[in-house]
Amino acid sequence: MENVAIFDSPGKGRGLKTTKELWAGDVIFSEASLAAVVFDSLAERICHSCFRRQDKLQRCGQCKFAHYCDRTCQRAGWAEHKQECGAIKAYGKIPNENIRLVARIMWRLDKEGSIVSDMQLTTLEELEDHIADMQDEEMQEFKVDIHNFLDYWPRNSKQHTIDDISHAFGVIMCNGFTVSDQRGLQAVGVGLFPNLCLVNHDCWPNCTVILNHGKIELRSLGKIEEGQELTIAYVDYLNKSEERQRLLKTQYFFDCTCEHCKNHTKDDLKLGGKEVDGVKPSEEQVKEATDYCFEMLEKMDKSRLNGDYHEVVKICEGCIEKTEPVLADTHIYLLRMWSTLSEVKAYLQFFEDASDYARKMVEGYTKLYHPNNAALGMAAMRAGVNHWQAGQIEIGHGMVCKAYAILMVTHGPTHPITKDLEAMRMQTEMELRMFKQNEYVYHSMREAALKNKPMSMMHEPSSMEEGIKNLFHRRK
Ligand SMILES: [Zn+2]
Ligand SMILES: [Zn+2]
Ligand SMILES: [Zn+2]
Repeated sequence: MENVAIFDSPGKGRGLKTTKELWAGDVIFSEASLAAVVFDSLAERICHSCFRRQDKLQRCGQCKFAHYCDRTCQRAGWAEHKQECGAIKAYGKIPNENIRLVARIMWRLDKEGSIVSDMQLTTLEELEDHIADMQDEEMQEFKVDIHNFLDYWPRNSKQHTIDDISHAFGVIMCNGFTVSDQRGLQAVGVGLFPNLCLVNHDCWPNCTVILNHGKIELRSLGKIEEGQELTIAYVDYLNKSEERQRLLKTQYFFDCTCEHCKNHTKDDLKLGGKEVDGVKPSEEQVKEATDYCFEMLEKMDKSRLNGDYHEVVKICEGCIEKTEPVLADTHIYLLRMWSTLSEVKAYLQFFEDASDYARKMVEGYTKLYHPNNAALGMAAMRAGVNHWQAGQIEIGHGMVCKAYAILMVTHGPTHPITKDLEAMRMQTEMELRMFKQNEYVYHSMREAALKNKPMSMMHEPSSMEEGIKNLFHRRK
């Protein structure tokens, strides 16, 4: 590991710093997991070896639990599954994902020793477990997991002390990294990446982490001077500093003292009022609109979960009509409304509405997020597609280019999503040229294209994006 060194970060414990100057998009390190498992709920839909979603998976003939794309994946996953397979058969049921993950970690370390590769900077033992910080309720579940683990763990495997087992559970409880599918759109499992556990949090970080072809990559978001601490954001920046601090305290057990929290940077934009000709609405007006928005968001979420998309549109548009004149265009509740509406409207094939809302979303995000934030890039991509669908090729191409520039930094050129964007960029560029030459020909071609493949890029609206915003997997 030539790019980084472990050091004592003031007030944060151990941290990682860079030992050389870095630039936007640099891969500081990439790391394979020590172990990873598919979520309980997706065990039959995601390959247990490559974590891809497949319609038809083959079941392990022995335990009937593990599922694979094909023989190749099964063979590739056998070293990790071998002992698990026997243990599940003997246990007679399927232990939950936490237990499966800890067991896989233990088997691996028993076999290969506490350092499994010369890239690994820390042992499991050295990582923090935060057991002392746990609340009663969390502690109860924790004890049940350990109890079940002891029943599951085979007699003929190496036996460990309760302290060692508890420590492993504690580590994955706060440091289990959410593993996404190959496109990074859906959370499908949880894994442990020891080096990543050393990277501390900052609400305005200088790095980002992305899963690419089975390994995580720590990537630089901009220029970083030699010797500076490397940081990632554990929670989404689209929360007020107070809320971020609360989340960090309850989920990761520390008080954030980053610059943005100390100075409440951009908090005024996130729940603020709209200024029109130098006049701002009163505090009461803003509060009233904010509370109303919050109420409607809860109602909307319910309808969305029920798949009642026309109701979602009704709730959102009603709310927007009332609150848009009062609330700032960076208000985080309005942004959520616009984001959902653009998704749902695209699904219902109202492309012009979808593109209008998507544009407002991207404009708001741009004022709030770091210019190289991955969520901003993904939003710009969605807005680009919406505009392209609506036949607004100039804005569409611009959005796709914006997204591409961001994802080249956050995801890198080999990531499947960046490759999608590259193709989209070429397509929209070609169409834009055609549009400038002959608008009429362009529009008739667009119509034909949409008729041929009307449903392409129109996924059913979901809360996927929200899911991936949780970097580390937390129990519900
Ligand atoms: Zn596979
Ligand atoms: Zn099996
Ligand atoms: Zn902070």
